[in-house]
Amino acid sequence: MKEVIEKLTDALGRSKVLTAPIDLVAYSFDGTFEQRVPDVAVLPESTQDVVTVVKIAAEHGVPIVARGMASGLAGGSIPSAGSIALSLTRMNRILQIDPVDMTATVEAGVIVTDLEAAVAKVGLFYPPDPSSNKQSTIGGNIACNAGGPRCLKYGVTGDYIMGLTVVLANGEVLKTGGRPIKNVVGYDLTSLFVGSEGTLGIITEALVRLVAKPQFVRTALVEFDSLDDASRTVNAILAAGIVPATLELMDETAIACIEEAMKLGLPLDVEAMLIIETDGSDEEAVVREIEAAARICRETGARQVSVAQDEAERARLWRARRSVSPSLARKAPNKLGEDITVPRSAIPEAVRRIKAVSAQYGLPIVVFGHAGDGNLHPNILFDRRDPAQWAAVEQIVGEIFRIALDLEGTLSGEHGIGTFKLPYMVEALGPTSIGVQWHIKRAFDPQNILNPGKVLPQ
Ligand SMILES: Cc1cc2nc3c(=O)[nH]c(=O)nc-3n(C[C@H](O)[C@H](O)[C@H](O)COP(=O)(O)OP(=O)(O)OC[C@H]3O[C@@H](n4cnc5c(N)ncnc54)[C@H](O)[C@@H]3O)c2cc1C
Repeated sequence: MKEVIEKLTDALGRSKVLTAPIDLVAYSFDGTFEQRVPDVAVLPESTQDVVTVVKIAAEHGVPIVARGMASGLAGGSIPSAGSIALSLTRMNRILQIDPVDMTATVEAGVIVTDLEAAVAKVGLFYPPDPSSNKQSTIGGNIACNAGGPRCLKYGVTGDYIMGLTVVLANGEVLKTGGRPIKNVVGYDLTSLFVGSEGTLGIITEALVRLVAKPQFVRTALVEFDSLDDASRTVNAILAAGIVPATLELMDETAIACIEEAMKLGLPLDVEAMLIIETDGSDEEAVVREIEAAARICRETGARQVSVAQDEAERARLWRARRSVSPSLARKAPNKLGEDITVPRSAIPEAVRRIKAVSAQYGLPIVVFGHAGDGNLHPNILFDRRDPAQWAAVEQIVGEIFRIALDLEGTLSGEHGIGTFKLPYMVEALGPTSIGVQWHIKRAFDPQNILNPGKVLPQ
């Protein structure tokens, strides 16, 4: 590794190559509680810099672990042993916004809200909105195929990626996709890199699709005495042909945690709440949709439906939803946020079974998530210093995944696999699928130097 670090420093200069322990610690974490310090952290400023790093790493067979803002929740950007942590955060330029073709070309390290704000200035909209949009990069979002509340109506990150610039494991630069909207020439390599979690190539630039910014929005907070009623309401709204921009579910424990941390005046005697938002460019249609959704909520057992009357009230509702994760983090020394998806019709059963697991093991499991997509985030609250609690958490995680699979769902809707979900991959996909994915991995990365030990079980 000494020789590798010397070559990296000679080629890129000291300012882009960090080796001091105090610096390296900053590149040892992601959004989980795992940690491993890399041997060196490199901060490229261009695609050519990335090529240089990859060529040196390939020559010496040294692993490279790409990272954006390290907000990932699956251990994906935790450095592997003896690896280079490759942080893309200095590659944060928005290179072009094209208002006619409605596209933007961005470097991988652009923060999601920076892109949103830049395109909004010309009346455009980049819809994918992970709750971490202030702390995650476009590259990380592409590598995980990130989702968010708005994805019910607008789709996930991958639906907005038209083309990529990727540095391959041998240092070659691959361009995928392009500016035409329709493009079926050859295999869809863009989609292959979406969700590949840094295991097939290093994404350095992306061409993203934009849409016209919706002019009007209405948001409602709906209180339910029964979590079952809340879950059933989600299906009733969608079955009525209403497609809200968001349909978010929070259970009573989530509500209590948010209220304790934020003092927003949320009710503490309900079992669940939904946040429903409609948007569009025809104000009457947007109002009609939220009123229709509200009517359905009342018919399916809602105790109260409050439609935000102004932007301040709307911001308060969203502050509640976006504070779930930070509020939970204050409740217990550790939390483990899972990310299962189930068919929408199975949400009530999934929630019931998860609550039974919580009671069985005596640890709180908070459930919230993108109910419209059937994407639930059961969060286990615990103290990792207590061996009994940690052993229980490992059991609970297995139980949650089995509930998802049993209900014809799967392990992850948006956070990816990283290392955390590796043990369950064969159960989820079967050996044939894992075998095919290994063939793809070996074709792109025969030396296994790109984020080894992630996504695919041995
Ligand atoms: C409070 C909180 C809320 C969250 N809410 C959501 C949510 O609503 N929806 C959601 O989907 N996720 C959410 N997440 C998870 C996380 O923010 C996403 O997974 C995000 O996409 C990670 O982006 P990042 O830039 O932080 O990537 P990192 O965490 O740095 O990396 C994630 C993975 O991508 C790979 N990677 C990163 N950059 C590149 C690149 N340029 N080329 C190749 N591979 C790369 C890494 O190797 C790693 O495997 C949340 C996390 C937190 C902490």
